[in-house]
Amino acid sequence: MSADCSSAPHPLDLHHTASMAPVLSTINPINFHNIFGGLIGTLACSFCHTNNNLLRCQPNAGITGDWLLDRYADRLHFDERNPMQDRCPYLDELITKVRANPLTVLAATDGSVPQSNQYQAALAAIIYKGHSELERTCYVSGRVTAPDMELNAISCAVRLAVKQANCQHIMVFTDSMGSAHRAVDPSMHSGQAFSLSVCRALQEWFKADVLHCITFVYIPSALWWDIHGEAHKYITELKVRVGHCKTDNSIDVLRSRAAHSSLDAWASMFQDRSYRGSEFLELQQPDRQLIQPSYLNGGPWLSTFGHSITEFARVCWCITGHMPIGACYCHFKINEPHGCTCGAALQSRQHILFCCHD
Ligand SMILES: [Zn+2]
Repeated sequence: MSADCSSAPHPLDLHHTASMAPVLSTINPINFHNIFGGLIGTLACSFCHTNNNLLRCQPNAGITGDWLLDRYADRLHFDERNPMQDRCPYLDELITKVRANPLTVLAATDGSVPQSNQYQAALAAIIYKGHSELERTCYVSGRVTAPDMELNAISCAVRLAVKQANCQHIMVFTDSMGSAHRAVDPSMHSGQAFSLSVCRALQEWFKADVLHCITFVYIPSALWWDIHGEAHKYITELKVRVGHCKTDNSIDVLRSRAAHSSLDAWASMFQDRSYRGSEFLELQQPDRQLIQPSYLNGGPWLSTFGHSITEFARVCWCITGHMPIGACYCHFKINEPHGCTCGAALQSRQHILFCCHD
């Protein structure tokens, strides 16, 4: 799956989409939005790879009422995380029970996003029945986010599991329930192509037998638990360097990169007094680090003072140095007293904040 994007046509390039004309003609306008929204969602992905997934996807997957969860909600189960529960003994008991059932297929999935930029993200899926391993697979996927990778791993596991003979119940063991929910959601999101592929595989499998059902089970990755620990070990052994070609693979990774580069640019512009404002009051964190601009939770200033409009207006006056005090009257030659009510000769911002006892 390692993508060679250098030769892939841009999905929005109309010259190249001409080669998809036979496919496009079979898609109605609603599906076009749903499917190509996802295509744009995975725009940086190797086009040919994504495209293959899209061509195999269920044509009605994106129409409300035809969604997998609309039609087969009773066959999809999520065994969610429960902070009150001691997960390990519960999981041990569960796996003993499901291993004893010859009609249950177990799928352990895991994704890994290396901290080093030099290596590609990777995923693993291992399929078992009872104690025997039936199949295992791993892929690399360029640079994607951890939830993208988990979604990709789940998609891979589901497609392998539905192919197994004598299987009535699939149990997918994952450490990302968010990605498990995304996997059965055909709406527009990062990695939508993988969700469409899961929806198609499950829709066909559910249709084949009324007893077919699937359960996604939450495994805390820190447990290194049983078959999930095995998938985790398997995937961390796979180390593939990023090649020379561009390997960004999902809209979420591009979004995150754009946000980081905006923050970097913002932080460096903020060092420039002419951009920041020469009177801007430098404030420090409790650890004496200078406060840097950020958009998180409204930014450091708004998140601290934003609860009251009047207080925030006063803080703005103070931080920007545009407040009706003596020093300001003096600077703008306004005919008002320059001294402080406490008797100090000049009512400056420094004086009010650090010296004045009035
Ligand atoms: Zn004073």
